[in-house]
Amino acid sequence: MSILVYIRNVGGQLKKQSLELTAYAKAMADTLNLEVTGLVIGTIADDELKKLGNYGMSRLLKADDEKYNQRVNRVYTRIVEQAVNEVDAKYILFPDNAQGKAIAPRLSVRLKAGFIPQVLDLPSSYEPFTVKKRAFTGKAIATVTAHTERVILTPMLNSFGLRENARDLEIQSFEPHIEEPNSRLELVGKQLSEEGLQLADADIVVSGGRGMRSSENFALLEELAATLGAATACSRPVADDGWRPADEHVGQTGKIIAPNIYFAIGISGAIQHVAGVSGAKCIVGINSDPEAPIFEVADYGMVGDAFQIIPELNALFKKH
Ligand code: FAD
Repeated sequence: MSILVYIRNVGGQLKKQSLELTAYAKAMADTLNLEVTGLVIGTIADDELKKLGNYGMSRLLKADDEKYNQRVNRVYTRIVEQAVNEVDAKYILFPDNAQGKAIAPRLSVRLKAGFIPQVLDLPSSYEPFTVKKRAFTGKAIATVTAHTERVILTPMLNSFGLRENARDLEIQSFEPHIEEPNSRLELVGKQLSEEGLQLADADIVVSGGRGMRSSENFALLEELAATLGAATACSRPVADDGWRPADEHVGQTGKIIAPNIYFAIGISGAIQHVAGVSGAKCIVGINSDPEAPIFEVADYGMVGDAFQIIPELNALFKKH
């Protein structure tokens, strides 16, 4: 029996989320006296995959036939299912992102396994399997129990953190039996939204709201983000008005992120916005209105004009 971790292959690279997922699985495995096995699909170099050993993975199945470089969720679900049977996995972990959310529910139906998304912590019990999860867009935490033989989880990014726990990693080739992998759906094109740091992977996020007044003024936030090595984000009206790209919008109807530091600049802090960032370790609110709701959730607050504060902050960070 083992714990199977689905490792996301992003054009031959691993993302921090896969390392964190492996560390999470290792903590479960230590309690249960199990091994952590990974599954990666598509072409990716062993040198890159070896990083997983630093976080406690001991065995990795690699289905690296080129034909799997195109992700087709139906096909990937079958591949994961075969890996589950191969290693007799009782727990199957996916990242809590679009890919995990697409494959995990399909697999749950095929395996008749309980599926718990948006997991916030390690299980509090294994018999029965009980864990805390995010509920109602972050306004509540639910404690749920799965009564199935197998359990599928998607732990949220940054809910556990990166904990090193080095193991020797054995990488094995895995050849699933899939007939006509791409017969129903074929990926015919792909356009990356933007160069640069992706929001989900960023440790620091600099985000702007309607208080920034125009799309041109976001140059100030971009400068601050460049100084901090941060990604940029925005509130929904900013994206709706076309001041920023739609994929930067965070909140209930946008992306859910959990960086270490989130700068909310000229953002009122409406609940629909906070729903997307409440997982941040530290929220810094910058707003001219001392009554703005963002200050109710902020760890640090600066009351004042963003157009004065941002250049000063930028100069300060540049010095240090
Ligand atoms: P505003 O509410 O206009 O706030 C601007 C803020 O800037 C104010 O607090 C003001 O004091 C401050 N300000 C102004 N000038 C300055 C200055 N010079 N310096 C510093 N501060 C200044 N919103 C999201 O963001 N994400 C979502 O996913 C989302 N989903 C939604 C889903 C539904 C169903 C609904 C109904 C709404 C949703 N919204 C969402 C919208 C949300 O309710 C708010 O309207 C929105 O978040 C407000 O955006 P804002 O804070 O940028 O703008």
